[in-house]
Amino acid sequence: MSTPLASLADAVSCVSDYDPDALPVADARRVIGALARPVEGVETLAVRDALGRVLAEELVSPINVPQHDNSAMDGWALLGAGLNPDAETVLTEIGTALAGGAFAGTVGKGECVRIMTGAVIPRGTDTVVPQESVQAQGKRIVFPAGQKPGQHRRLAGEDLAQGKPALAAGTWLRPAELGLVASLGIAQLAVRRRPKVAFFSTGNELRPVGQPLGNGEVYDSNRYTLWGMLERLGCEAIDMGVVRDEPALIEAAFRGAAARADAVITTGGVSVGEADYTKAMMARLGEVAFWTLAMRPGRPMAFGRVSDGEKSALLFGLPGNPVAVMVTFYFFVRGALLAMAGRKDDELPLLRARAASAMKKKPGRTEYLRGILANQGGEWRVRLTGPQGSGILSSMAQANCFVVLRHEQGNVAAGDLVDVLLMDGLV
Ligand code: AMP
Ligand code: MG
Repeated sequence: MSTPLASLADAVSCVSDYDPDALPVADARRVIGALARPVEGVETLAVRDALGRVLAEELVSPINVPQHDNSAMDGWALLGAGLNPDAETVLTEIGTALAGGAFAGTVGKGECVRIMTGAVIPRGTDTVVPQESVQAQGKRIVFPAGQKPGQHRRLAGEDLAQGKPALAAGTWLRPAELGLVASLGIAQLAVRRRPKVAFFSTGNELRPVGQPLGNGEVYDSNRYTLWGMLERLGCEAIDMGVVRDEPALIEAAFRGAAARADAVITTGGVSVGEADYTKAMMARLGEVAFWTLAMRPGRPMAFGRVSDGEKSALLFGLPGNPVAVMVTFYFFVRGALLAMAGRKDDELPLLRARAASAMKKKPGRTEYLRGILANQGGEWRVRLTGPQGSGILSSMAQANCFVVLRHEQGNVAAGDLVDVLLMDGLV
């Protein structure tokens, strides 16, 4: 189903000074990146259904776009070489060229043709003079000096050239790509199938929504944030519910997930010293590394793969705390799932913004703070949402960006520039 994975041990051995008890974010990302491979399987979809999917094969343009040289302006078409370079030129209009209504004849010496944007450039002409700069007296048209031969002409194939690659394999299909494909007259596309991702929450304290809470219980919110992130990423999300901390149930859940998914995401049960069975079961069913990451929030995390018989799936054992789940998903799982989807563009741009207030930071770990980026007097400034505890999910709801404080970075003073990652872009 999916391509055989490199071994976890091999991936780990590529990281110098590998220390699972204080693993820098960059090293963890490298290990994960080494194991995430594109899933196999291609589907043919109508163009609109391919929105958000990943192109499976290079798309070669079957035609020139545009098909013909055409006008970029409303005006008159003429032969540039026939213009007086330093004085006005008078020509006779002999017809009209419209978009979808070409001028049939050939334009001779002393002649020009009225032309509209998108109309095919008539035979015998190569230049368009926009109507704003022209004086028309009936069919007698006066062109001022200073026109450049060849101006305001769109060349055949200047957008997409016949026989040349129009889109690379692995391209994420956004609205622009759908339109581009349609401009080639193509109605169907070969796309990769979506990665299947099974996920479940672990913890005896968890209640599904819609039921009353007992003493010491909390509603399971992680399956909602996870579902949302997976859907937005274009994965096929398989919700396996809440699994209680009981070995038989956890084992069944892992086997079921490995059997039907390309990746498995769990939350909870990976903390140090926790009386959970999750870690033991992961270790038993697969090849799994347990990491204490040099980051905040989201220190404990498991990564590797779990198997059911011949079938294996990548495993991400995320922490239980709701903010830690989102942070570890965005900064570790997301890139892996995009690689599995066949995309190569998982790097998001970090912007620089001024810190509105001081931020405490210890060197030696990466911190992902929840921020609000706003323009103040023409400058982008970022302030924190408030308390930054890993259980405070409202901080994620208020934020429009992460403030990313790098591994080696120390305290931030008000007014310092910090790295910022926007949470949303154009939809
Ligand atoms: P754990 O990693 O299992 O020790 O969980 C750490 C914290 O996250 C505990 O306070 C849990 O109650 C909380 N937590 C774990 N899973 C969930 C969940 N699915 N939804 C909301 N909170 C959770
Ligand atoms: Mg737990």
